[in-house]
Amino acid sequence: MGQWKSRSPARGTAGSSLISLPAELTRQRAGDVNRGYELRRTDTKGAGVFATRSFQVGETVMVGVIDRELDHNHAHASQVSEKRFVLHGGLITKVNHSCEPNCGIRLNASGAHDFVARQPITAGQEITFDYAMRNYSVEHFAAHCQCGSPRCRDRITGWKDLPAERKADYRGFAAPYLTDIDNQRATKQAGQVAAGQAGIAAQQTGQILNAEPVATE
Ligand SMILES: [Zn+2]
Repeated sequence: MGQWKSRSPARGTAGSSLISLPAELTRQRAGDVNRGYELRRTDTKGAGVFATRSFQVGETVMVGVIDRELDHNHAHASQVSEKRFVLHGGLITKVNHSCEPNCGIRLNASGAHDFVARQPITAGQEITFDYAMRNYSVEHFAAHCQCGSPRCRDRITGWKDLPAERKADYRGFAAPYLTDIDNQRATKQAGQVAAGQAGIAAQQTGQILNAEPVATE
């Protein structure tokens, strides 16, 4: 879509901490192939990013650069903290979702997302990640997922909708603020349960029960 080509500095972001790095993005585009990936057409999903060399598990495949701040979550928004949404620059915005992705997310020093291999990647393979690895809530994709993986969950959903088992699979490859939000919610829920149980117990027996942690999906 070329968001980084048609940049208008004033567009909706005047006064915010706009990070605009055209020189860096131009350099990044020129260096994409040398860095090990390039934009290609996919069979069914429009454009996609493909590896031009192999990557080992744990290796950084793409380095994230924040193009600009966003004031809300939307289909192309990357969540980079509990409340902050940005648009990445360069080809990272073209990387397609998969429900069995070969890359995960790691926050880099600039606060952007680096893509890190969670599976061995060979030259010619499409680079993919799971949108749920970066966004707690994904409500923007009504259509069926096109990833074609045997583990496809049919709908592209956010972290909050992943089963606990899938969250465990993504450990170390999902953005850290996602588990922070989970933990905050679980603590709040457990607190409410404990308060409720304590109230009932105090009423009925005068004893305070130990609240079990709430099972979360
Ligand atoms: Zn899928």
